[in-house]
Amino acid sequence: MSFISSLNRIKSLIKIFKNSMGIFSNKSVKDNIFNQKTNFRNIFSSKKLKNEQLEELEEILIEADVGVPFTNKIITSIVKAKFDKNTNFDDIKNILSDHISNLLQNVEKKLDFKTDKKPYIMVFNGVNGAGKTTSIGKIAALLKKEGKKVLIASCDTFRAAANEQLKIWSDRSDCPIVEANKEGEDPSAVAFRSVKKAIDEEFDVLLIDTAGRLQNKKSLMEELSKINRIINKASGHNADENILIIDARNGQNIINQIESFDEYINITGLIITKLDGTAKGGILLAITEKFAKPIYAIGVGEKIDDLREFNSKEFATALLG
Ligand code: GDP
Ligand code: MG
Repeated sequence: MSFISSLNRIKSLIKIFKNSMGIFSNKSVKDNIFNQKTNFRNIFSSKKLKNEQLEELEEILIEADVGVPFTNKIITSIVKAKFDKNTNFDDIKNILSDHISNLLQNVEKKLDFKTDKKPYIMVFNGVNGAGKTTSIGKIAALLKKEGKKVLIASCDTFRAAANEQLKIWSDRSDCPIVEANKEGEDPSAVAFRSVKKAIDEEFDVLLIDTAGRLQNKKSLMEELSKINRIINKASGHNADENILIIDARNGQNIINQIESFDEYINITGLIITKLDGTAKGGILLAITEKFAKPIYAIGVGEKIDDLREFNSKEFATALLG
């Protein structure tokens, strides 16, 4: 193949692929993808992309919790792009990996919270067992290590055990805790006291733990709105962050969780936990396309330092791996 004809072939392949990848609806994502230097040389490999290979890719995506609708979109794009003539399986995987990491790069955020604003108030929300309390412990330890003055608030007042668990994390991270005066005290009252204390004693960061709740329990969800109203009342402004903790093992249900929590409180970012297990968290693709929520960190274990920054490239590689 002459240089000119191979160049034209690359151009037309890019065009076909560009047109068919409407699934990545965010314009800047598309721009990023096609401005980067993808290694298109491999596309001219002689191996054929067989149906079984498409099936294998489909299987990888479904098993990684990407979800059927999003997986279908990806597979359709690949089929439409007519890569079958000259492309081998690894080429497709590499290109797909680039696409995924580009999509997720837009929501990759760091836990370097503004320090000019005191106290920086973060509320942790999520269904039962998602990892709220554990993540608070990990973040408290991290911020403390950075030299910040961190206060923890125990607004899961329904269960004594929940408070005990947070107290252990308070000890481990060496950050003080504001607790309910008695079991079952209104969580908003604890939130109010903690904000006042954080202001009076000039804490840098306030981490507020809340009770786990099913997203379809209206009264409990309204309680989160109330906690947020009280924070505003006590501090004169809204909480800086309302983080939703999501458990990678919850798969497709996470979409529903985000929708429901967003109805009551403005979710400003996500932390996805339990990525140390078999769950690969592929649901983040559909979530990012739908909600574009920042992803602050990932949980990779139960220990204090088992929190990592979210890295879109590493995530994409692990997802297709
Ligand atoms: P909460 O109900 O949302 O506060 O959830 P917890 O923080 O109590 O966590 C529920 C369970 O999940 C506990 O046993 C934690 O040790 C565990 N857990 C939390 N985060 C992770 C993680 O990233 N990886 C693993 N393997 N376990 C986690
Ligand atoms: Mg908890």
